[in-house]
Amino acid sequence: MNRSLVISIDGPAGTGKSSVARGLATSLSARYLDTGAMYRIVTLSVLRSGIDLGDAAAIAGIAGDIELAVGHDPGEDRSYLAGEDVSAEIRGDAVTKAVSAVSAVPAVRTRLVDLQRALAAGPGNVVVEGRDIGTVVLPDADVKIFLTASAEERARRRNDQNVAAGAADDYARVLADVKRRDHLDSTRAVSPLRAAEDAIVVDTSDMNQSQVIAHLVELVEQKAGVSR
Ligand code: C5P
Repeated sequence: MNRSLVISIDGPAGTGKSSVARGLATSLSARYLDTGAMYRIVTLSVLRSGIDLGDAAAIAGIAGDIELAVGHDPGEDRSYLAGEDVSAEIRGDAVTKAVSAVSAVPAVRTRLVDLQRALAAGPGNVVVEGRDIGTVVLPDADVKIFLTASAEERARRRNDQNVAAGAADDYARVLADVKRRDHLDSTRAVSPLRAAEDAIVVDTSDMNQSQVIAHLVELVEQKAGVSR
């Protein structure tokens, strides 16, 4: 591969998207951009300011002023809010619960999409992970991947993670939650979750992480060979 490639990876939660995107970036010596982390940083700032999650104008104000930064090393990506390392805090329950509401505010998306485009335009190969990368953020990406897995498989993985973290074993509730969020994400007015027309859809239900990464490396190599 002798020119820089832009690779988008989209798909719902529970498909192993983040681990796979990091693994692919490492294999390709690419930079890695986690756009979900950016929505989480804005959400943390909103929560800290005490703004009501229904107050779209106030949330838009925060998004306009915020000073955020994300690292691009797939081995150790860090997230910063006004210079403070918030990498752990943005993965906590409070942010996870509130992020959908914040990411549905159009002004938040406009601000972050501009930033994502600027970051993706940097040097070398880049793997950009999110929900709307192939459709909205980078419609000209060289390779577009959309990861899927059955709702049952995603619920099983999430429930296993919960149990490992000491939470209750409740597959039925997790499955109902996965289905509810799939519905919300795919029917929301702004940037609904869907595969781009030219995305390669990869169903990870019956594959482990290293199989998925190997498959994606192959797809990228094929594509890069063709477009060279
Ligand atoms: O990928 P992650 O689970 O960290 O994303 C957190 C949330 O950020 C998602 O549930 C979604 O609401 C939002 N998001 C988005 N568009 C992206 C990436 C994430 O709306 N490109």
